[in-house]
Amino acid sequence: MKKYDIVVAGGGFAGAAAAIAAGRQGKKVLLFDKSNCMGGAAANCLINPFMPYTTKVNGEHKRLCAGLFLEIQDKLDDIRRLTGETRYMEGRSIFSEEHLKLLLNRMAQEAGVELLYHAYLCGVSCADGKINSVTVATKSGNIELEADYFIDATGDADLAVSAGFPYRLGRAEDNLCQPMTLCFRVSNVDVEKFTEEKPEIQKLYKQYRADGKIKNPREDILIFKVVQKNVLHFNSTRIVKMNPVDPFDVTKAEIEAREQTFELYLFLKNNFESFKNSELLMTAAEIGVRESRMIDGLHVLTGKEIVACTKFDDSIACGNYDVDIHNPEGTGTSHYYFPDGQYYEIPYRSLLPVGSQNLIVAGRCISVDHEAQASMRVMPIVCCVGEAAGIAASVAKDGKNNVADADISKIQDLLVKNGALIH
Ligand SMILES: Cc1cc2nc3c(=O)[nH]c(=O)nc-3n(C[C@H](O)[C@H](O)[C@H](O)COP(=O)(O)OP(=O)(O)OC[C@H]3O[C@@H](n4cnc5c(N)ncnc54)[C@H](O)[C@@H]3O)c2cc1C
Repeated sequence: MKKYDIVVAGGGFAGAAAAIAAGRQGKKVLLFDKSNCMGGAAANCLINPFMPYTTKVNGEHKRLCAGLFLEIQDKLDDIRRLTGETRYMEGRSIFSEEHLKLLLNRMAQEAGVELLYHAYLCGVSCADGKINSVTVATKSGNIELEADYFIDATGDADLAVSAGFPYRLGRAEDNLCQPMTLCFRVSNVDVEKFTEEKPEIQKLYKQYRADGKIKNPREDILIFKVVQKNVLHFNSTRIVKMNPVDPFDVTKAEIEAREQTFELYLFLKNNFESFKNSELLMTAAEIGVRESRMIDGLHVLTGKEIVACTKFDDSIACGNYDVDIHNPEGTGTSHYYFPDGQYYEIPYRSLLPVGSQNLIVAGRCISVDHEAQASMRVMPIVCCVGEAAGIAASVAKDGKNNVADADISKIQDLLVKNGALIH
């Protein structure tokens, strides 16, 4: 059996940041992922761009997410400079997922992290809140991985749930989760013309929906520019009332979303000059899951707390992305935008499952309610939460502590030293 200081399950922004941060603390770290790269939703579900991570103070944008997230942005810029790909880079929000996958491999390897791709979590050995090992299914059979500490960055809290820790699914009243979305890209678009036609496109889409000619329940078309010239990115399919952790529901969701993709593509191609010569370039490898399981942690961060911009002594990250709830039942998207200069903090206790001795959770499945998750789930924030999880596991390892007893001031000092913003 292979033995590590820290095993990280899942290599999305949260898991990648956790592994890199812990590796840089000199820990023996392994990160496994079911896919062939890190980046998680950005890589597998084509999620782009980074949602906002600044707040305006005296007219100036001040960052709320820095540390490893800022380093990743800087290094993405370096790669971009090498390739000369400079299109649509306003505000450094849009990024190339190909550059990201390459960069995260390099950063993890430089930090001494061992990577294991194509490995699916399939078993956990746990007693009295202490995880002894996890088992991953691979092409060559099952592999057991032992460690002193574990970080669950699977997005769906797969490890925490397999170990028997309590969790919630979706919103409190009916367990419905935010909709799933299969993102897709359309190439050979006349982007200048599209900018002119956009209001007309949205108008006709609404008309088609009213006439029953479009079945997608989403109220409008959500479109972004991407790094490739003449390519547009669609975050616009909407699958509601399906359970993102039930494989039969996810299969139905993938099938329905593919129909919605084709419906939308044909609508654009058949009605608008800007799409006349366009091609359906690609759909994401996997449907995107906005929300699923969230652990019950030592602190459940609530929508009320974040809207009140609550501050915590054990804060490990900050955020102010709007409370962005795509209607779990159908049409409509609600937003609560934070006023300029306002932000909330995320407490370390929200990363700790109740009763956990050596498991920390990072990413969109930490201990939050439906409303708080709707804000903290975005890539800049989960990256900061992941970095904190990696540092916390390292500090716990050094002190031979249970994760709840890890020295919080040491965790915070290390985070600040590494450039993270925690208050
Ligand atoms: C449709 C959609 C649009 C979005 N739009 C934006 C946006 O524009 N901007 C933004 O900033 N955020 C956006 N988000 C939110 C954001 O992309 C995610 O919430 C965030 O990336 C989650 O990061 P994570 O690291 O917690 O999880 P993930 O990125 O989901 O990473 C989890 C990783 O764990 C792996 N994994 C999962 N289960 C297992 C298992 N059992 N065994 C092995 N490996 C496993 C997965 O392969 C994956 O790599 C969007 C999300 C969706 C779904």
